[in-house]
Amino acid sequence: MPVAETAQTSARVRTGRAAPSGGPSAATPMPADFAALRRQDPELAGVLLAELDRQSSCLQLLAGENFTSAAVLAALGSPLANKYAEGYPGHRHHAGCELVDLAERLAVERATALFGAAHANVQPYSGSSAVLASYAALLVPGDTVLATALPHGGHLTHGSRANFSGRWFQFVGYGTDRDGLIDYDQVRDLARKHRPKAIVCGATAYPRHLDYAAFREIADDVGAYLIADAAHTLGLVAGGAAPSPVPYADVVCATTHKTLRGPRGGLILCGEPLAQRVDRAVYPFSQGGPHMHAIAAKAAAFAEAATPAFSEYAHQVVANARLLAEALCAEGLDVVTGGTDTHLITAGVGPLDIDGRTARGRCAAAGILVDKCPIPYDPRPADGCTGIRLGTAAVTTQGLGEREMPQVAGLIGRALREDRDTGADVAELVRRFPPYPDAYPGR
Ligand SMILES: *Cc1c(COP(=O)(O)O)cnc(C)c1O
Repeated sequence: MPVAETAQTSARVRTGRAAPSGGPSAATPMPADFAALRRQDPELAGVLLAELDRQSSCLQLLAGENFTSAAVLAALGSPLANKYAEGYPGHRHHAGCELVDLAERLAVERATALFGAAHANVQPYSGSSAVLASYAALLVPGDTVLATALPHGGHLTHGSRANFSGRWFQFVGYGTDRDGLIDYDQVRDLARKHRPKAIVCGATAYPRHLDYAAFREIADDVGAYLIADAAHTLGLVAGGAAPSPVPYADVVCATTHKTLRGPRGGLILCGEPLAQRVDRAVYPFSQGGPHMHAIAAKAAAFAEAATPAFSEYAHQVVANARLLAEALCAEGLDVVTGGTDTHLITAGVGPLDIDGRTARGRCAAAGILVDKCPIPYDPRPADGCTGIRLGTAAVTTQGLGEREMPQVAGLIGRALREDRDTGADVAELVRRFPPYPDAYPGR
C-alpha cells in the first residue's frame, strides 16, 4: 500500500485543497439536511421521525441492535454515498477515488490497530456478506463445515437450509450440553469423524465466552481452517471486555453494528497469508461497488471504539447484562447457563407457561423489545422457540446502568405476566435516557 501517497493526500485534505476544480472544501456545509427532506417529502420524513420516536420510547433489548453516534450517522449521510469505487485503495476501476481511498485506508488502519490484526477488509455490506466471503475465500461448494447447530445458537449462515450456507456446503452442527455450554468434546469428536475443511465458532445466541484456543487446537488436530464469526461480540473485544479470536482464527468475520456500535455493515480480519484471498472473495467474487459512506462510518466507529470511554462502555455492557440475568432468574425465567459473560442473555420462559413468541409479543405490547429464540433441551418444546434472547448493548449506550437493571428485569417480569400498567412505567423509565437527546431540534 503506497503509504507516502496517503500522507501526501492527507496533507491536501487538511489544507482544504483536496477537491478537484475548486469544489467544496472542508468549510462547505454538508448537504445532508433533514429539513429539506421534510419540505420535499413530508410523508417519508414523517416515517423517519416516527421511527426516531419509536427508538426513543422503547426499552431496546434486541441483542443485535445499538445506537450509533451522531458522528457515525453524519458519515452515513455524507456524499460518499454517491461514489463508485470498485476495487481497493490505489487499485480502483473508477476515476475520482483518491478521497474515498483515504476513508477506506483510515478504516483499514484503524481496524487492524484496534484488533491487532495483520489485515482488515472493511467492504462487506453486512455480517452475512462477511461470512459468505470468508467461506468463498477458504472453501469450494460441497466442502464439509462444522459449526454451531442452529437450535443451539448458530446463525442462518452456519448451515441453514434456507441460506446459501446450507445449500452449498455440507454443514455438521455441534451443540451445547444440558447446562447450555459448548460441548468441546463433542466438537472434537465430530471434527475427527467428519474431517471438515473449516470449523466455525461464534453464534447468534450464546451468552458465554468461547474458548478460542480449544477451537484452534481441534481445528489443527484435523487440519481445518478456523473461522470465528464474532458478529455479536467484536465490540466487546474492542473494549477489552471479551477475549479476542484474532490470535486464534484464520479468519474473523463480524458485523460493525452490534456491540461495535458502528454503521450496519460487515468486517473481515485475517493474517497476511490469507489477505489476498479474502479481498478477492469480497470483491469481485461476492460484492460489487463498496458502500463508501458506510466504510467512512466504520472508520468513525473504529476510532470511537479505540477510546477509553468505549472500553468503559463495553465493560458496563457486560456488568449490566450480568445483573439483568441475575434479576431475570429472580423473576422466574430459566436463564441459560445461569448468567452471561457478554451483552447477551438467553432465557427459557417455559416456567411461565408461555412460549418465546408469546413472550416476545407480551413484552412488545409493553414497549419492551426482545427476540424469541430456541432453548436447547427445553423440556417444554413449543414451536421450537421456548425462550427469549436479549442484550444490553443499546440500553447501555443510552446510559442505563446497574441501578436500572433490576428495574428492567421487573418490567420484563410484569410484561410477561400481562400486568397492564407496565407500558406506562417502561415509558417513564426510557424518557430519562433518550438515545439522541439533540436530534432534529425545533421540529
Ligand atoms: C448478526 C449475525 C450475522 C449476520 O449479520 P447481518 O448484518 O444481519 O447480515 C452473522 N453471524 C452471526 C453469528 C450473527 O450474530
